[in-house]
Amino acid sequence: MPRSLRYVAFDQLHERYGVMSDAVPGEDVILLVENEAMLSGTNWHPERLFFYRSAARHFARLLEGRGFQVHIHQAKSTTVGLSELKARYPGVPLHATSQNSFRQNERLESIVDVIRANDFFLTPPEVFREWASSQRNIVMEGFYRLQRTRLNVLMEDGKPVGGAWNFDKENRLGPPKNYSWPEPLYFPIDDIDDSVASEMGHTPSGCWSTTREGALAQLERFFSQHFANFGPYEDAMDPSSWSMHHSLLSPYLNNGLLHPQEVLDAALERFSQGDIPIASAEGFVRQLIGWREYVYAMYWHQGEEYQKRNGLGATTPLLPLFDDAAATSMKCVSSIIRDIDTRAWVHHIPRLMVLSNLALIAGVQPQEFLAWMRRRFIDAAEWVMVPNVIGMGVHADGGEMMTKPYAAGGAYISRMSNYCKDCPYNPKLRTGETACPFTTLYWDFLARHEEAFSGNHRMAQQLHGLRRLSDLPEVRGRAATVLQALTSGKI
Ligand code: SF4
Repeated sequence: MPRSLRYVAFDQLHERYGVMSDAVPGEDVILLVENEAMLSGTNWHPERLFFYRSAARHFARLLEGRGFQVHIHQAKSTTVGLSELKARYPGVPLHATSQNSFRQNERLESIVDVIRANDFFLTPPEVFREWASSQRNIVMEGFYRLQRTRLNVLMEDGKPVGGAWNFDKENRLGPPKNYSWPEPLYFPIDDIDDSVASEMGHTPSGCWSTTREGALAQLERFFSQHFANFGPYEDAMDPSSWSMHHSLLSPYLNNGLLHPQEVLDAALERFSQGDIPIASAEGFVRQLIGWREYVYAMYWHQGEEYQKRNGLGATTPLLPLFDDAAATSMKCVSSIIRDIDTRAWVHHIPRLMVLSNLALIAGVQPQEFLAWMRRRFIDAAEWVMVPNVIGMGVHADGGEMMTKPYAAGGAYISRMSNYCKDCPYNPKLRTGETACPFTTLYWDFLARHEEAFSGNHRMAQQLHGLRRLSDLPEVRGRAATVLQALTSGKI
């Protein structure tokens, strides 16, 4: 009989962390489960399911190559699968790493004998708790400074390298003109990919690797081709390149093929060579040790009920355009939805400032939008999407996470992208047939919630702008028409 059984979840695929950290071939047996939700594919983007399933099977093969006995078992649910596997090894304790969602942890509690602390992140829960309890507002910027100091990242004599904690002002350029974006890496399909793809009837995009080697190759690619220019263009949107200078590492960080510590160490090592501007290094580090860790900690901190919040009372049903790019002629939205259909990914600005912004200003019901975001992105773990959508994207938590809503009209999208020149709508117009729906709905959103935001000094400028509009009744009339057209897929 083996010493123990080790359950490896599909988002914990790393040899050196979690239950694998001290597993020994010949002594510990490794268990993975493909549950029915994964197998049936209902609702999930096929690229996302393919990625998770194929990466897990590659991981299983890697472990077999190391001499482990590995079971990759198909079952109705993870707990049923683990019970069935456990029955084959009576009396052998089952170990698991604490999971990445409330629900998964509850499910495993009844069947797992030893639950270990989750070491797939850089911030122990008690560190966040202690920090949060000392703050009036638990906003990201404060947490990020704690991380920089605590982890000693880009610090010199107790001060931030470059003389500032952030270089956001330098990192807000629109898309450059006449610029050649480097080609993204594409990954060949191997025999495991092929068998998962044919089981699913899916043709993989080739944009995402399903192996540790591929994830490391992507990391190297980022350092060699993108890191230096990552910062200035990190918020830009350019339809001529789907990847631009983004690292494309979030799927691997979120399924465990890469650990944030090794990405951080490699980034700091690369920065130490001296040719990476501080604005780019800081921008990347902010995503990795700031935003990513903050969002994960906030998921736990806010509790399980947080995802049900609807602080702005939004009731519009999910717009048809989210599932059908042809349901809109808005160039920005249709292009982005097509990109998501192709590879289950777009970077943070299309997610936040186009899709979530639209859901926010159109008043889309937050839980419907959250479910859609969870389904459609390759890296959309529950812990990622709950704070990002409820707190940040659609301001459904009444401003607990973000001090003001991320609402914007067409002017922002026009400044940060090349979409508007090919669009039938005009970002400068707020009324009339050719008014940009973002611009019209932005003002309508402010008018709808004027009272709620009136005590928020960070909204004072926007509300001042609203009160100066001489054509507000026409704008609100147009907004009603736009909303009607959006809900019927005719704009
Ligand atoms: Fe999007 Fe408005 Fe620009 Fe059209 S005009 S691309 S709808 S922001």
